[in-house]
Amino acid sequence: MNINFHPLIMSQNAEDIVSLLEELGFEKQNNGHDDVRLKDHNGFFLDVVQTENAPQDKTGICISTDRFEEAYSLLLGKGFQNTNTADAGQSVCLVSPSGLAVLLCRNQKEVPEEAGDGLIPSFSVDHNEIVPGIFVSREDEVGSSMITTYDIRVTKPNKEPAVDVAAMHSLEHIIATFLRNDPDWKNEVIYWGPMGCLTGFYLILKGSRSPQQIYQLVLDAFRSVADAESVPGTAPENCGHYLMHDLEMAKFYAAKFADYLAANAENPRIFEYPKKERLITEDGQHFYDS
Ligand SMILES: [Zn+2]
Repeated sequence: MNINFHPLIMSQNAEDIVSLLEELGFEKQNNGHDDVRLKDHNGFFLDVVQTENAPQDKTGICISTDRFEEAYSLLLGKGFQNTNTADAGQSVCLVSPSGLAVLLCRNQKEVPEEAGDGLIPSFSVDHNEIVPGIFVSREDEVGSSMITTYDIRVTKPNKEPAVDVAAMHSLEHIIATFLRNDPDWKNEVIYWGPMGCLTGFYLILKGSRSPQQIYQLVLDAFRSVADAESVPGTAPENCGHYLMHDLEMAKFYAAKFADYLAANAENPRIFEYPKKERLITEDGQHFYDS
């Protein structure tokens, strides 16, 4: 069962509340409903819904679930009252016997049958169309927080040579050291590591940020490679293949990618992946490349 809870503000002046929250750093999201979802960079979100007949603004809880009918009859059985039947197909506003307002919403996210958590997108990336850049690969809800996986795509897949494996390994070491020591970002970094196809890296950060919001971090990380006098952590006690490093080639790839990012800062293609339908294998498994 897929269910989540988040705050809800019901108001006759929803637009005013939305603009106030935007000034506070929230961004509007499309949640597939009529109400407005606002999200901050930590992944915290709330919904604002326009109500016509409420005498004053009200706060409540939105419960979003894929087992809408079951939840609806459960709440009715506990004495909740339906206050608005206008759009009972998608959402209903209920009030508990003690006066708590609850908006029950049907979760419309497409859930692959064996995935169940509803967060894995049903599209995958068209590798024929990718250009190098910074892309959101997936966002996952973990407890009450979000984490975001980014693809840092360094070369154009299948169109130009992938990064040499020893240079890739050195880039992994140097940039991991940069990210985990940067005073502004070290506490946000969960993971940095190479893609098996050697065309880029995975970066996992706490929170929910757009690729544009981590552009400067990625640019600084790749620029930092030029200053490296050695590769950190290349003693046998620190590394699983300590002889397989190539600092000079790491510098070559890092400089090439950093120059590319700088030249394409205004190009939206470096921040948005081309999507295609997800591959399903012959035995019916959904393919995920990360
Ligand atoms: Zn290593």
